[in-house]
Amino acid sequence: MAVNGSTNGTAAPAYNGNAYPITDHTFDVVIVGAGGAGLRATVGCSQAGLRTACISKVFPTRSHTVAAQGGVAASLANMGPDNWKWHMYDTVKGSDWLGDQDSIEYMVRNAPAAVYELEHWGVPFSRTEDGRIYQRPFGGMTTDFGKGPPAQRTCAAADRTGHAILHTLYGQALRNHTEFFIEYFAIDLIMEDGVCRGVVCLKLDDGTIHRFRSQLVILATGGYGRAYFSATSAHTCTGDGNAMVLRAGLPLQDMEFVQFHPTGIYGAGCLITEGARGEGGYLTNSAGERFMERYAPSVKDLAPRDMVSRAMTMEIREGRGVGKNKDHIFLHLDHLDPKILHERLPGISESARIFAGVDVTKEPIPVLPTVHYNMGGIPTNYHGEVVIKKGDDPDVVVPGLMALGEAACVSVHGANRLGSNSLIDLVVFGRAAGLRAAEIVTAGAKQPELPADSADLALSRLDHFRFAKGSLPTAELRLQMQRVMQNNCAVYRTGETLQEGSKLIHEVWAAKDQIGVTDRGLIWNSDLVETLEFDNLIVQAVVTMDGAVNRTESRGAHAREDYTERDDKNWMKHTLASIDATAHTVSLDYRPVHSYTMTNEMQYIEPKARVY
Ligand SMILES: Cc1cc2nc3c(=O)[nH]c(=O)nc-3n(C[C@H](O)[C@H](O)[C@H](O)COP(=O)(O)OP(=O)(O)OC[C@H]3O[C@@H](n4cnc5c(N)ncnc54)[C@H](O)[C@@H]3O)c2cc1C
Repeated sequence: MAVNGSTNGTAAPAYNGNAYPITDHTFDVVIVGAGGAGLRATVGCSQAGLRTACISKVFPTRSHTVAAQGGVAASLANMGPDNWKWHMYDTVKGSDWLGDQDSIEYMVRNAPAAVYELEHWGVPFSRTEDGRIYQRPFGGMTTDFGKGPPAQRTCAAADRTGHAILHTLYGQALRNHTEFFIEYFAIDLIMEDGVCRGVVCLKLDDGTIHRFRSQLVILATGGYGRAYFSATSAHTCTGDGNAMVLRAGLPLQDMEFVQFHPTGIYGAGCLITEGARGEGGYLTNSAGERFMERYAPSVKDLAPRDMVSRAMTMEIREGRGVGKNKDHIFLHLDHLDPKILHERLPGISESARIFAGVDVTKEPIPVLPTVHYNMGGIPTNYHGEVVIKKGDDPDVVVPGLMALGEAACVSVHGANRLGSNSLIDLVVFGRAAGLRAAEIVTAGAKQPELPADSADLALSRLDHFRFAKGSLPTAELRLQMQRVMQNNCAVYRTGETLQEGSKLIHEVWAAKDQIGVTDRGLIWNSDLVETLEFDNLIVQAVVTMDGAVNRTESRGAHAREDYTERDDKNWMKHTLASIDATAHTVSLDYRPVHSYTMTNEMQYIEPKARVY
């Protein structure tokens, strides 16, 4: 059996169904995901002297973080007065009071240090005249506890901030001798008596099975935007870690909160960063009116994303959309100095040209709210440890398991994330996870043998799809799922459309047993992997829909037309959704939102009406 470190030879097969040769590996820490969150944790664990493996289904610098454009939020006060308390206030208000305020305090307090660390590691931030990190305004970021003008808080490397951060972190991970397992697809967690002991992976280029044993597994597998038809996220954003957690019998939190970004390019879905409005861009309807002035009189186009997306949807519904079918909105940058566009928004100028055929210096960009971010995910505390609710205690740690980044729900974003607060979430909590790992993991400690059947769950699932001979192609079911989510669980929701959506999405879930994986080619081709990804997406789609059906209020990104008000008395609580994968049922439970902060330096921010 495995000894500490990778065994390159073939270990005894642990699975007795099909004879899969299994290669065993042992590490102190295994991190699944090489986006910003996974790489930051990887660097921290490696620096702590822990033998660390980082597993990724795509090459690390192809993770979706590479596409992040606008920037990363931290109260550096480079462009005017700012401090972490104002950032905290904005984040709590942005979250529509569903965020846990202890976690939010942890994030905003540690944000400046995390950004300076990135700077010192080599992130090529844009600069002010006097050489400091350039910061731009972003939606919902204000000064003086919402009473002052917009804050310039979002640190930017032109409009390619994620690209700059991801490449820098990858370099740092290599420098710290992390072992990478690239193009390995994690199938399932290995759980033993409620403790996470490792993860089973499929090596994509040769179809071999790899079993990783570790003292700690960190899931940083990103969001599941691809459950929807039109998303700004990469095709790889299938929330695989979330689905592994559901299959392990653990719940996901607040999945009904899905963020629509106001400015996806009409038709193509690619993102035009909020930084475009931060630099002075604005939206207009068919009358040429700057309609945001009516919806958010003080901050206008820099209102939070949920509000701008709703305003755009209302304009279109009321017949004031632009274009032949009056079904989208215009984003204007044509009034801005071409020099500024070239310097600060070069990437989106290019995207607009390629995907909308528009020269941004002369014409507006056609845009539409597009699925962008998942506030929900794997529930954790602010050390990154996965927590579950047991009896009266809502925060019991699952030993051996952490989650980070978009896969996690800390919860700092609550019901609606503010732009540029995700990149800071990745690096602050990625760093926190490394610090925690250094405390709870002993470098090189001998680990008990894994149970003989530890890979069975993963391998029987793999087998099921590998030999699936049904009549339904995966692509067809995936399309059905994406359409249902797009039609029935979008910017505005009603009991009726959600009920119908629940029925339809459960039908798609049930139909997955009729899948046929036909073009398997030699061994492991993309159809099999896409089927595994679809199987991951569909369970997240059902818990998203069912969580939304049950939540009879409007809060942040969850806007119900039949329950238009936020209901703090009954609904100031996190949803916990679990599945029974055999019976195809969803069960919902709830846990209280933390009504306390981390320290006495900041008092709990009491809920009030969320107007801008
Ligand atoms: C177009 C776009 C622009 C954005 N711009 C901004 C911005 O300016 N500011 C901001 O704050 N936020 C922005 N966001 C949001 C932010 O970029 C993401 O939330 C964040 O990058 C997610 O990072 P992550 O590390 O959690 O996951 P990702 O970067 O998505 O990485 C996931 C990793 O997990 C791996 N993985 C997944 N499944 C498996 C599996 N089964 N086996 C092995 N590996 C697996 C992948 O290979 C990848 O390495 C943007 C998002 C998009 C889509």
